Amino acid sequence: MSHVFPRHTKQLPPVAVRGEGCYLFDSTGKQYLDASGGAAVSCLGHGDQTIIDAVKAQLDSLAYAHTGFFTSEPAETLADMLIANAPGELDRVYLVSGGSEAMEAALKLARQYFVEKGEPERGRLIARKQSYHGNTMGALSAGGNEWRRAQFGPLLIDMSHIDPCYEYRLRAPGESLEDYGIRAANLLEEELLRVGPETVMAFAAEPVVGATSGAVTAAPGYFKRIRDICDKYGILLILDEVMCGMGRTGSLFACEQDGVAPDILCIAKGLGAGYQPIGAMLCSRQIYEMIEDGSGFFQHGHTYLGHPTAAAAGVAVVGAMLERDLIPRVRMQGDKLMAALDARFGQHPNVGDIRGRGLFQGIEFVADRDAKTPFDPARKVAARLKSAAFKAGLICYPMSGTIDGRRGDHVLLAPPFITSDDQIGELVDKLSIAVEAALAA
Ligand code: PMP
Repeated sequence: MSHVFPRHTKQLPPVAVRGEGCYLFDSTGKQYLDASGGAAVSCLGHGDQTIIDAVKAQLDSLAYAHTGFFTSEPAETLADMLIANAPGELDRVYLVSGGSEAMEAALKLARQYFVEKGEPERGRLIARKQSYHGNTMGALSAGGNEWRRAQFGPLLIDMSHIDPCYEYRLRAPGESLEDYGIRAANLLEEELLRVGPETVMAFAAEPVVGATSGAVTAAPGYFKRIRDICDKYGILLILDEVMCGMGRTGSLFACEQDGVAPDILCIAKGLGAGYQPIGAMLCSRQIYEMIEDGSGFFQHGHTYLGHPTAAAAGVAVVGAMLERDLIPRVRMQGDKLMAALDARFGQHPNVGDIRGRGLFQGIEFVADRDAKTPFDPARKVAARLKSAAFKAGLICYPMSGTIDGRRGDHVLLAPPFITSDDQIGELVDKLSIAVEAALAA
């Protein structure tokens, strides 16, 4: 009898006991290739001695000190490292324990900024359908994942959700990718005008959409147009890079490749690489100074803010990414993974789209490739794929996403940056076995 929840299955799941490189091992000795880093977390793989040593050393000197009284060396160092590499005007770092906390802080910071600025009517967030920003109430309200929101309606905050930039499903026949990108971005302006731009504080989006859609990149020009619209109406741009940031797409911050810089940026997952729970919200000096020169204090906070041990893991992880040249490696191995997926699944009758960037890739499955018809939800393709892959010794991240009631199944792949050529081969072979088993069921 286990007292631990949540459980995704009725039976007790395997007990994870050891991690080594790209593999996890359970208590029976079974080996699993980690092709999704859990949920895009374990970017350095498992058992990285440098990170383990850094965490141990920090525990030996100082495990924890409350930010109400102290700052700490690892927190200061991590903030310096992030800002030295951050895009645009980002200048201040708020260290939290995960992605939802980072997004929650972003929403409150945006709101407080406008209150201090003397524009208290600005309180609305515009976000996108088929997005995920976390599971706490503000972050869940910002997300557009209908399944995750379904039971919590009365608790959620009223926010706007526009269609995402989702070329495979939403580009019109004959429309160029560039035209589609502009049309998709213009939905933000339409929504601003519909609700009254003076009531809106910010727009939030994932540069590459992860958990709800399987690595959906934006069309070229989309985010530049989004940035222009935000500036035109004086609203803040919040980018959620909790999943797609920290090198995952082949640049330290995903938005670099879209040619935009946000006012607020959230990261987590890869920042601690699974060695410690940590997330961060980065904001521009302009936002921070508005608050510092106003009431003087960001009205927010959690006990574990700026946790020294978590920050020490972050310092070691970012240091390893930069010193080991792992980000160019993400691009190189990402190209190989994409080529291998194309070769294996490109002509598959039930594969509608293979997409992504760097080592953040997704496959969308369809019942009919030409008509792009999704599978009947009763077939539970994503759930079957997850268990078939697990049986084959592969950890991947299949999900069902929904826009306006239309459901689709996809799998997200986010392997560790150290994944070798042989492991890419192993990943594709095992995924192929799992896909055939899931579709045959
Ligand atoms: N934002 C995005 C884009 C995410 O993918 C996630 C987690 N999947 C979150 C926020 C929430 O992060 P956490 O689970 O660490 O709270």
